[in-house]
Amino acid sequence: MAYVYDDQNIFAKILRGEIPNTTVRETEHTLAFADIYPQAPHHVLVIPKGAYVTADHFANEASEAEIVDFWRTFGSICTELGVTPDSAAGYRIISNAGEDGVQEVPHFHLHILAGRGLGRMLNPV
Ligand code: AMP
Repeated sequence: MAYVYDDQNIFAKILRGEIPNTTVRETEHTLAFADIYPQAPHHVLVIPKGAYVTADHFANEASEAEIVDFWRTFGSICTELGVTPDSAAGYRIISNAGEDGVQEVPHFHLHILAGRGLGRMLNPV
């Protein structure tokens, strides 16, 4: 099944400059910005500029240049925030996908959460 991208999603609007964001880092293929409802002292969203719905969509269809740029940007943000386990207590990355993943914004994004104890990975259901 083909991935269907909704270009009216809020991150597409951020990428087009239609709504503001607090930019942390911008590169040729990647934008990182502060989450508007931070759930930890550090809560940064990293998104590709390309139209990808989920992490698997990005992994399957993005170019090598986009993938390298995305992960290098992620790594440099962790270093800049000082959250890597060699300099701080660490962090968590999350990428929600689809209904079961409770994805609210259908543009692939990585949450970087850090700056407090983050508890166990999942709550029991
Ligand atoms: P998800 O449930 O993984 O799709 O998460 C979407 C995230 O986007 C949530 O953490 C929201 O707080 C965040 N968010 C929604 N609108 C904005 C916005 N305009 N600027 C920054 N973050 C946003």
